[in-house]
Amino acid sequence: MKHVNHWINGARTGGEDRTAEIFNPATGEVSGKVTLATVEEVDAAVEAAARAFPAWRDASLMKRSRILFRFRELMEGHRDELAALITAEHGKVHSDALGEVARGLEVVEFACGIPHLLKGGFSENVSTRVDSYSIRQPLGVVAGITPFNFPAMVPMWMFPVAIATGNTFILKPSEKDPSASLLMARLWQEAGLPDGVFNVVQGDKVAVDRLLEHPSVKAVSFVGSTPIARYVYETGTAHGKRVQALGGAKNHMLVLPDADLDLVADSAVNAGFGSAGERCMAISVVLAVDPIGDELVEKIVSRVERLTIGPGDDPASQMGPLVTEVHRDKVASYLDLGVEEGAKLVVDGRETRVAGGRPASEARGFWLGPTVLDHVPANSRVHREEIFGPVLSVVRVKSYEEGLELINTGEYGNGTAIFTNDGGAARRFQNEVEVGMIGINVPIPVPMAFYSFGGWKASLFGDTHVHGTEGVHFYTRGKVVTSRWLDPSHGGVNLGFPTNA
Ligand code: NAD
Repeated sequence: MKHVNHWINGARTGGEDRTAEIFNPATGEVSGKVTLATVEEVDAAVEAAARAFPAWRDASLMKRSRILFRFRELMEGHRDELAALITAEHGKVHSDALGEVARGLEVVEFACGIPHLLKGGFSENVSTRVDSYSIRQPLGVVAGITPFNFPAMVPMWMFPVAIATGNTFILKPSEKDPSASLLMARLWQEAGLPDGVFNVVQGDKVAVDRLLEHPSVKAVSFVGSTPIARYVYETGTAHGKRVQALGGAKNHMLVLPDADLDLVADSAVNAGFGSAGERCMAISVVLAVDPIGDELVEKIVSRVERLTIGPGDDPASQMGPLVTEVHRDKVASYLDLGVEEGAKLVVDGRETRVAGGRPASEARGFWLGPTVLDHVPANSRVHREEIFGPVLSVVRVKSYEEGLELINTGEYGNGTAIFTNDGGAARRFQNEVEVGMIGINVPIPVPMAFYSFGGWKASLFGDTHVHGTEGVHFYTRGKVVTSRWLDPSHGGVNLGFPTNA
């Protein structure tokens, strides 16, 4: 059975002291174990990263860029292997796992342009024979703590930019699907990255807490659920660190009556059930503006009933299992809760047949099929709480204004979408909605790598979003140099405040 351990200073390491089980969600069987770091192991990783920092900071931009190019090529060459590791531990279907690798690699491609991204400003003669210029420098040792749902892509939102800007990096991946991190570490080494620049510590709260309090860790990027994001932000900043902590989500799709309902139904199904709804940009609530509700729900249901669920490594499967039994049970509990709260269960995912065989509720593995709840009462728990599974709620609303109000009064502000053929309404929505990432007739508006990804409200704690220019700013700090080269040398004492002449 596999044993996934740490990657510190260019080598696999880590003992048996503390471990957790890794599951194959499609069968429910234990497939291996993962080491959970002790405080001493985290300290060893921080020490390795701190030792590697001065030389990496001083490596030329072209050297860093070339290593990133090589890493990109190696990742491309191993994308099937990486996707298979993800499917085996997370459960998502292979094509979806390939998709996350591709989107993560776009950030590596963005970071390959680091010589351009780090260009500063220069002003000649800010005073007589005095020049001024701005530079951005790396912070030192930085850490990334990531969730289970994108074991390759979310780390790649962070480490390409952190490493390209000259920092050394410690990744603490989710203990539920830790294997992808080690393959990426090996490929970094093969690409020529010096040992200690990229390290992985496997673990749980013990590892996270040590990273948050270790004095040598200068910044922490976090992606995960809102309560932990808040905790990471508060603890990390209390220890003097720069922190960006991305939290949970509850994304609404507002459908105006003039929208193309076939496009809407396709989009709601794709964005609601892709990756079994375990995406922070999944659509989990459809706000159907009167009078289209009945027709739209009919179109959604006819598509959902044709979906094939099955193991992620079967090419016929469109949706895989959920990540753990505990998570599946939590998600499934919302079906009865929804009915108790007054919703109508129009597709019951417990009855969906897994690979044409047993119903999800009886199959081995962590299964729940795509579920549709209609007439979900606004502000009920099913409407408001993050479910993070294949449960699509339809809330009927009377107007654009009522829909907008429901989005803006929600706790989260990660993503949202409007579907309409009215450009004026779409423009008004993009202006009025209090959410960080907006789709107009696009259901999962994940920004490209050269923009920055991040939500508002309880979906983000901190000031900067990840990757893009904001990522470059997060992992660097600015300096402004004012220089004078006298020719011929002369001076003179003057205690007045420096002014420019
Ligand atoms: P999680 O919060 O349980 O775990 C995230 C990370 O925090 C993991 O590495 C985990 O080991 C660590 N952790 C867990 N409990 C901890 C504790 N008590 N103290 C310290 N560290 C702890 O999240 P998850 O279940 O892995 O991922 C799903 C969540 O992530 C969802 O809420 C989803 O919306 C969110 N998410 C958000 C985004 C975004 O961009 N906003 C992207 C992906 C996922």
